Amino acid sequence: MHAALAGECARCLDALTDEADVELSELFAYPASVTDETTDEDELPRVVDELVDVEQIVRDAVVLALPLAPLCRSDCPGLCPDCGEKWADLAPDHGHETLDPRWAALRGRLSAD
Ligand SMILES: [Zn+2]
Ligand SMILES: [Zn+2]
Repeated sequence: MHAALAGECARCLDALTDEADVELSELFAYPASVTDETTDEDELPRVVDELVDVEQIVRDAVVLALPLAPLCRSDCPGLCPDCGEKWADLAPDHGHETLDPRWAALRGRLSAD
């Protein structure tokens, strides 16, 4: 079974879509079958009127197939912890030097010389 997934990158929170191939190996018991007589309804879902309720089963299978931390790409650099901008969008030398204003003034004077 093929499932389309939508989520967000665990690092930069970009929206992302993915696809998962889900193996459904669930068994169902037909009414009055040997399986029906030898298993409990809690163990095996029953076929009712030729139909089975697969929604829960599909959901469980998809959840198991999902990566724990989906990423938009495997080397996603994530977000700058200080300003929350994406590293991918920021200059390579981006940083947040918390410089005392007095030092900043001194540095300005030094570089003016
Ligand atoms: Zn990302
Ligand atoms: Zn930043």
